[in-house]
Amino acid sequence: MTAFHYHRGTLFVEGVDVHSIAEQYGTPCYVYSRAALIAAYDGYRAALADRDALICYAVKANANLAILSLFARLGSGFDIVSGGELARVLAAGGQPGTVVFSGVGKRVEEIRAALTAGIYCFNVESEAELARIEDIAHALNARAPIAIRVNPDIDAGTHPYISTGLKRNKFGIPLPQAEALYRRIHSSPHLEIKGIACHIGSQLLDPAPAAEAAARIADLANRLCAAGIRLQHLDLGGGLGISYRDEHAPSPVEFMRPILAAIAGRTEKLLIEPGRSLVGAAGMLLSRVEYLKFGAERDFAIVDAAMNDLMRPALYDAYHDIIPGHRRSDPAREFDIVGPVCESGDFLGLARPLAIAAGDLLAVTSAGAYGMAMSSNYNSRPRAAEVMVDGSLTHLVRERETIAQLFANEHSLPY
Ligand SMILES: *Cc1c(COP(=O)(O)O)cnc(C)c1O
Repeated sequence: MTAFHYHRGTLFVEGVDVHSIAEQYGTPCYVYSRAALIAAYDGYRAALADRDALICYAVKANANLAILSLFARLGSGFDIVSGGELARVLAAGGQPGTVVFSGVGKRVEEIRAALTAGIYCFNVESEAELARIEDIAHALNARAPIAIRVNPDIDAGTHPYISTGLKRNKFGIPLPQAEALYRRIHSSPHLEIKGIACHIGSQLLDPAPAAEAAARIADLANRLCAAGIRLQHLDLGGGLGISYRDEHAPSPVEFMRPILAAIAGRTEKLLIEPGRSLVGAAGMLLSRVEYLKFGAERDFAIVDAAMNDLMRPALYDAYHDIIPGHRRSDPAREFDIVGPVCESGDFLGLARPLAIAAGDLLAVTSAGAYGMAMSSNYNSRPRAAEVMVDGSLTHLVRERETIAQLFANEHSLPY
């Protein structure tokens, strides 16, 4: 039995009917399956069984504390990109010694907080950032643990907005410059070399570019070792894609096989930073049809979720399957599934054949990654609730925002 399935025409998440979730918690609402999260994590554990490895969940994919604490309990480390994410990981019980800190724009206070917390490693993305970290470590009389995120100049073959390993992207340090920088780190009393990092992009369905990147990292590791520079780990980033439609997404075992082959013989600990592939398939966005509207050219199902809840269709033209809360036997019609936001880009899916009526529930599937995490309050819409299902239990893991919270930090002019 998969985490999301139909029983007598009704959609269930594990043992719970989505109608009872909608009734208890309202819509729109993100619903996650705890079993599916654990299964995804176990997929990586199986892929890395023969290797000294640490899975560092990329927090930005979904930063809910319930998800972070679940992964922390499973033994996961974390890949963070801000001080806010560090605070979340610590609040969820994550171990600072398992945290790697990526991102091109680390601020002074964020670096200080991470050093003070004792994170495992900074993934440094520029020479200027390295100098800043060195200064802060000096001032704190500490030694900052460092990996250089190299940009291997590899086309990941994914959407340009989520490709990160090309020369023209803002991420990482060009491979040819890395060696000189490692020598500089090696000679600094306030910096400690931990490893090499890279991350070439997201929603990868073919491991070949990632394996090529791994080969280039292994090559750099060879050269550094020859120069007497010792490494504790190789961090090969995240990026494994999931199936949104009918694409074949490789399992972690399939995806990691050529990557592991590319670093065969290297004995450093392996770090990986999966985000989407740990949480994407484990979540859906549950929404209710407010109106059906039959137009001159197209028919619309206007639902209570919108682009502010799930931005991926508007941002990347992403496809998500949209399935009914209960199956009707009426003939299907094609609907554009749209939200109430005042933008023509506010759609969750276009031309979807569905048999639905006003008041029905619709589930946008594969929405566990970069869904709630990218949500906003556009149009003064409170963020959705989040619910975790565990067998026949449901847990409210984030309360629906209230209208009052939307402007609680604002001030009217006093005159
Ligand atoms: C976003 C990101 C990840 C996770 O990417 P996924 O495609 O979600 O697996 C990992 N590492 C870094 C540095 C990232 O920016």
